[in-house]
Amino acid sequence: MKYAGACHCGKLKASFETQKTPQALGVRTCQCAFCRAHGAVNISDPEGVTTIECAPGDVERYTFALRTADFLICKTCGVYIAAVIGEGDRIVSTLNVAGLRITEFLDIDEAPMEYGAETTEDRIARRYTKWTPTTFSDPALAAANFGPH
Ligand SMILES: [Zn+2]
Repeated sequence: MKYAGACHCGKLKASFETQKTPQALGVRTCQCAFCRAHGAVNISDPEGVTTIECAPGDVERYTFALRTADFLICKTCGVYIAAVIGEGDRIVSTLNVAGLRITEFLDIDEAPMEYGAETTEDRIARRYTKWTPTTFSDPALAAANFGPH
C-alpha cells in the first residue's frame, strides 16, 4: 500500500510505500523533548520506500544534540514531517504521521520509545536498520548530506 501526506500548508509532501498494514507496522512516539514538543508519531519500514517532495527553500533542516540526523520542518507552517540521515544512495528516514496527517496511522496504539541512553554509534546503526530507504524529488536535496554532521 502507498500512503501520502503533507504538512499543514502543503509545501512539504511525503509518500510511504509498505507491504505491511498500519497495525502490523505500528507507530512510535519518541520521548525526546523535540518530538514531544511537536506531538510526533513516527513510522518506518526498512523494506518500504519513502519519497519526499519539496523545494529546498521551503524546508528547514534542523539539527540538535548529537547532530546525527536532520529534522525536516516546513519554513511556512512550522510542521515537522520527517527525520532523515545519510547521503547519496544511502538516505533513510522516519515519517511523522501526525505532522503529515497520514490518517491511516493515527488510530493505532502508540509505543513510547526512550533513545536517550544510546551512544552516537548505536543511534546511527539503529536508524540505518529501522528507518525507511528514502528519495527526494528535488535534485539538490537528493544530493544533500543529512548527517551525521
Ligand atoms: Zn507547511
